[in-house]
Amino acid sequence: MNNISFIVTDKCNIRCDFCAPECDPKYKEYLKSKDMIKIFSDLESQMEISLVVFTGGEPMLFKNEIIETIKYIKKISPKTNLRIVTNGFWASSFKSSKITITELISAGISELNISVDDFHQKYISEKNIKNIVFNAREFGLRVLLAHKSYPNSKSDKEYYENLLGSEITHIRESTKDNLSKETIFFSSGYTVPIGRGSKNINKEEWLPKNYTDQRWKGPCNEVLKSYTVSPDGSLMPCCGLVSRDLGVFYGSNVIENDTAKEMEKYCNSFLYNWLALEGPSGILNFVKQKDSSLMFSKYFVQNCQVCQELFSNETVLNIIYQNMDEISSKLSLARCLLDARRVTLLESI
Ligand code: SF4
Ligand code: SF4
Repeated sequence: MNNISFIVTDKCNIRCDFCAPECDPKYKEYLKSKDMIKIFSDLESQMEISLVVFTGGEPMLFKNEIIETIKYIKKISPKTNLRIVTNGFWASSFKSSKITITELISAGISELNISVDDFHQKYISEKNIKNIVFNAREFGLRVLLAHKSYPNSKSDKEYYENLLGSEITHIRESTKDNLSKETIFFSSGYTVPIGRGSKNINKEEWLPKNYTDQRWKGPCNEVLKSYTVSPDGSLMPCCGLVSRDLGVFYGSNVIENDTAKEMEKYCNSFLYNWLALEGPSGILNFVKQKDSSLMFSKYFVQNCQVCQELFSNETVLNIIYQNMDEISSKLSLARCLLDARRVTLLESI
């Protein structure tokens, strides 16, 4: 584990049609700076944390809590990267955007991720994006325009290049050289029909044009590596895009308990180790073998959607818990084979 995300709040000033956690202006709960500092300190005394992410909901609705936390982390762990993921609502004027960016930079922020796409731009003016980008360029703050598309998207990388009047480097083409020279990057991903996004739209309409089942098959590379804390302080063993009511993912409260100890419990859990070794597609195959009458979607946009479908199904959960012994011995064997392969690879170096 070397990074942690704080879902500062589920409150958002807007209601995007595709929002997986169904964020909404009605929520009130948020993580206070004292809680985020406590959680970071629990971890920092045990391990090096390379990245802390503040996300939501819209985390900038609680800007002061974030700034306090960033200042603390920067002081005790100067090498930790600090990222805020925001919809940019606060940048409606060039002047106010400049003030906020200066404030964030002097607190110690390393990067801003701005969510940009057809869904967000229904509510957030493109002028806000320009204000952030122009000010960030002036101050040398790295900005990632994090774009989500779907088959009929109007916007793409070119669309934002035209808006900004300049080329933007895609993050997958970033090199040491352009990372040190450029400040504005672009990333692209696909919307996932979970939460609000799954309600009104036929799931199969969301399939990417270049769909292959490699998008969701195989081990999960995030679980037990990237942890997330939700606004009520529950710890999640990955950064998955799943609903907040999926009990298997939202466990112990790390405002009240020691974060490192709670993480250790997750590391010993057969379920999360299973996800790490075989991914949700492995679990899907297992439960289908146990009960062939179970019906699942035929296609998935990505692997978190498989988790969402599996773990919101009571029958699936019963099958998993009734077969824990069989699964545990299967996992021990998979673990031994993995370790043996690693030893062979090391010996061949
Ligand atoms: S997708 Fe982001 S900006 Fe949109 S409602 Fe959800 S949290 Fe808010
Ligand atoms: S695939 Fe499942 S375990 Fe992996 S990040 Fe997504 S929700 Fe979490």
